[in-house]
Amino acid sequence: MTQHIDFGSLPLNPFIDGKRIALSGDVVPTYDPASASVLCNVPVSDENLVADAVRSAKRALKGPWAKVTPAERSRMLFRVAQLIRHDAARLATLESLDSGKPLREAKGDIETSARYFEYYAGIADKLQGDTIPLGPDFVSFTLHEPVGVTAHIIPWNFPLVTTARGLAPALAAGCTAVVKPAEQTPLTALVLADILTEAGVPPGVVNVVCGPGDVTGASLVNHPDVAHVTFTGSVETGKSVMRAAAGHVASVTMELGGKSPVVVLADANLDEALAGTLKAAFMNAGQVCSAGSRLVIEKSCADDFLAKLKARIGDFTYGRGLDDPDIGPLVSDEQLQRVGNIVAQSRKSGAEVLIGGNVKRPANLAGWFHEPTVLLAHDRRNQAVQEEIFGPVLTVQIADDFDHACELAEDTPFGLVGGIYTKDVSKALRFSRHLSAGQVFINQYFAGGVETPFGGTKNSGFGREKGLEGLKAYYHVKTVTARL
Ligand code: ADP
Repeated sequence: MTQHIDFGSLPLNPFIDGKRIALSGDVVPTYDPASASVLCNVPVSDENLVADAVRSAKRALKGPWAKVTPAERSRMLFRVAQLIRHDAARLATLESLDSGKPLREAKGDIETSARYFEYYAGIADKLQGDTIPLGPDFVSFTLHEPVGVTAHIIPWNFPLVTTARGLAPALAAGCTAVVKPAEQTPLTALVLADILTEAGVPPGVVNVVCGPGDVTGASLVNHPDVAHVTFTGSVETGKSVMRAAAGHVASVTMELGGKSPVVVLADANLDEALAGTLKAAFMNAGQVCSAGSRLVIEKSCADDFLAKLKARIGDFTYGRGLDDPDIGPLVSDEQLQRVGNIVAQSRKSGAEVLIGGNVKRPANLAGWFHEPTVLLAHDRRNQAVQEEIFGPVLTVQIADDFDHACELAEDTPFGLVGGIYTKDVSKALRFSRHLSAGQVFINQYFAGGVETPFGGTKNSGFGREKGLEGLKAYYHVKTVTARL
């Protein structure tokens, strides 16, 4: 089910202090990646407007938001979840159109976004401190206090769901926020602002500003009144955001890239492993930080498994997100070029194409499509093994045995997640201990969800989102100790 979108009535202006601010300056077009046509032009928030947004968030922190009891905060967040679900058809259509992702995945994202608000609504009135035993002459206890104004820099691959992932715990902990969606996919975050208002979230508590990263994003993360930055994006931009945050000693959560392995051992249920590998690699056309973009497969089952893998990929449907294909377009021409270049470079340095390998449009569509591709890498230093591609490209590495698979799995600069398929519990758990990563999936790639802490090691970043761990970035612990 899709819903007709009236683009003329979409709220495109920045949302500051509970109001839409009409702008007449620069705009950034946002595209339908399937047709490469402009969906709408979104006004750019400049440095002054970003400063207004931060000021409004700072005022709300000590003003109306501070007076809302945790129980009422919790009720508001539940209402946000309900309203997202109520508007799910429109939000999913919009997300699919703006990002290019298959409609069923967009629907899943909208439900997960609602679930984030619901999950953190449940904890808003239960965030309590400790009492610390210091003997009869003292009373000591801890208070959990909101860190302050939080900045949320959002990527284009999971627009609403990444916004909800940071915003829901920030609000549950009593923080206020300025959200900067990616310039490629700003629409659902702009709509969310209206949903928050309808749910009763006071003006200034959440502000949304749009524009290019080096203008709007940089102004936000450099602002001295921003106390915490939650960033999801590329490693290079993450470093620049960290440098900016260091300038005013703001804390940061960095969710950066990945090159995560899916290890398949010969004793596994190979049908389940095959389905899991396809989902791991090709969900959202591979534009997923935690994609399982490297298949590390035990030699004794490799030939058969790869033949089946190729057959399944050969049957993939390919087209615009709203038609719900297996593989949709990439988000932008820039991303398509990037993917095409890495595939070409990897081939030049020895990776073998097992299927796909080309930039290729479906008939009648002018957008940014790359064929689902499998590359067999004989050399573990190959770019296809070491670099995040962020497209529908699965790299295969053949392992002699379990120990070799563990070694290959670990050998990249990233450490976001990893998966293993095996019936041997001991091997699965040994792999889990061995791999440097924030999450390990056993016999179901992407197992878990809103409740399970997520984040990186090495170049994949640091800090944890999701679950109760995800709250910790948003409150300070203050200890109060009295001598009696
Ligand atoms: P990509 O290169 O795939 O677009 P980025 O990591 O550059 O990914 O972008 C992720 C988010 O970071 C986007 O919202 C983008 O606008 C924002 N961004 C880019 N550069 C900066 C910057 N210098 N400061 C703050 N945010 C930025």
